[in-house]
Amino acid sequence: MTIKENYLRIRKEIPGYVQVVLAAKMKTSEEIKEAVDAGAIIIGENYVQEAEKIYEALGEKAKRIKWHMIGPLQKNKINKAVRIFDCIQTIDSIELADAVDKKAEAIKKEMPVFIEINIGSEMTKTGVKPEYEMVERLALHISGLYYLKLEGLMTMGPRFGNPEKVRPYFRVAKGIFDKLRDTGIPNIDLKYLSMGMSNSYKIAIQEGANIIRLGTSIFGARKCNFKN
Ligand SMILES: *Cc1c(COP(=O)(O)O)cnc(C)c1O
Repeated sequence: MTIKENYLRIRKEIPGYVQVVLAAKMKTSEEIKEAVDAGAIIIGENYVQEAEKIYEALGEKAKRIKWHMIGPLQKNKINKAVRIFDCIQTIDSIELADAVDKKAEAIKKEMPVFIEINIGSEMTKTGVKPEYEMVERLALHISGLYYLKLEGLMTMGPRFGNPEKVRPYFRVAKGIFDKLRDTGIPNIDLKYLSMGMSNSYKIAIQEGANIIRLGTSIFGARKCNFKN
């Protein structure tokens, strides 16, 4: 299967309202171009430097793409990140939200962001604790920041051999999402729930995801092992 075939096959099997983010880490610009030519419109990057490189390589095409930050954002990369990205999916603290708001203010850019939840409370993962109060606290803070626009929640979820096992975690994330939306915090527009990867996207969609992030199922296996 080529990248193009993989993309088209998955696009056909999932509902139209579900957005696909290409998880592009470790991929060459040729591989990413192939997916873009097949119709992909959102690229998810884990590293700011990689995003810059791919952005350059895509030339005119880069401007038609939506760029999402899906990896942990380092303090010293925020300046570049607010310029490149259309959305930062990985806000997980008040400090980070404030720092991103400040850099967005410097260039007067409204910056869509998601709150990342560490739904499995895993030591190796970033994200807010999976407790409603913690998520609401951060959402309230973001609602008071002028340049950040809270539009969604994101979660990775533990990786199991059998993806059925991740279903209860996705369900908890959806519960937090619904409750937060129903709380009606001003100045936020909660509409996206970003969860599900190559081995779990079908279950994630069943549990309410409307953004999925796919690497392996589109590009094939990564040569390098990444913790996630
Ligand atoms: C790598 C990555 C994915 C995609 O993982 P696959 O299992 O290759 O589909 C999704 N989300 C994040 C944050 C990632 O780092």
